[in-house]
Amino acid sequence: MTAIDEIHSALQQHNSGRHAAGVVPRTLVELLANHAPAALSISGAGQTAWNGQVVEAGEGILGLAHWDGTLHLDRECILDPLREMYSRSGLIQSDAMLTRYREALVTMLHEQSHFLGPSGATQEAARQAFKQPGSRALEEGVAEAWAHAHLDDYLTTLGVDQVAPGIDQVRAEPSYQAFVPAVTLLTDDLDERTGLPAGETLRALNRETAEGQWPLVVDLVYCSSGLPECVPPNREPVVRLRLENTLRESFRSLEDFEGHPRGYEAARSKSTARQCIDRLNTEIQTAERYFQAPTRTPDQATALRSALSGLAPPKTPAQSRPTTTAGAEVTNRTRQRIQPTPTPLRGQGDG
Ligand SMILES: [Zn+2]
Repeated sequence: MTAIDEIHSALQQHNSGRHAAGVVPRTLVELLANHAPAALSISGAGQTAWNGQVVEAGEGILGLAHWDGTLHLDRECILDPLREMYSRSGLIQSDAMLTRYREALVTMLHEQSHFLGPSGATQEAARQAFKQPGSRALEEGVAEAWAHAHLDDYLTTLGVDQVAPGIDQVRAEPSYQAFVPAVTLLTDDLDERTGLPAGETLRALNRETAEGQWPLVVDLVYCSSGLPECVPPNREPVVRLRLENTLRESFRSLEDFEGHPRGYEAARSKSTARQCIDRLNTEIQTAERYFQAPTRTPDQATALRSALSGLAPPKTPAQSRPTTTAGAEVTNRTRQRIQPTPTPLRGQGDG
């Protein structure tokens, strides 16, 4: 049987349900059956929206977590290396081969991250939320940062460290450099604000779908500030919405840096996140001063009102920029084939 036939046969066998779940994988078919439960287990999420089906990805797509729950994986960069990995089980392999396997496995985990959510979450609600400004940058950045941070745990859970000895000694570079550094800076900042253990905000965001991710960030920001003590209950929704719009607008702008060389993307991602955190702090302080001052002179009240009005006006996140053709395409959570050159990565069907 040729390698190509083997992959076709593995997918057919997997999708027909004739596979072994609940075992340490020793074949590609067993890996396909067990890779999603392992992701669910290490994440602590309430559920996965994966429907159990795996198909070959279309041209130019490395991986895709489709809204219908189907997982699309590229043959050349993911399915074939993993088939090969099991055919050489336990053998000593070159760093180049181990890196290739590692890249395939981190993409699998990244795609499974998209399917994770709290119990009862729906794909339809996630799909609608994913279209809002800044949602895609946060979800892709979280999926990629979390997948890389937890990959070694994932490989151990799946027994891959036994199949490909030394796979934990090589490194795969994260994709989405326009998003990952910003997500890392923001989640580190939130860990610090809230006193959570390092990495906990990232883990918590990974357990949410796009529907719950920004609301969770806003909740952490709001509750760790002095705002709950001074904002009247009837003003709280407006204050939270201002914070959310500030965050979303900064993260939406990260999309403008995609397609540039990695170093440029990463540098702009970091500087944008730092500005975002500064704006957030300014907004919190302004609101705290506004609501805390028990008696204000007319001049102070006017000054504060104009300071607040200079910030992002309250609007629902639904008021996004007009949807373009490219905007419609990015509503699918797609990972593009990694290009060896720093030419623009953006293409048809990219997400
Ligand atoms: Zn993705």
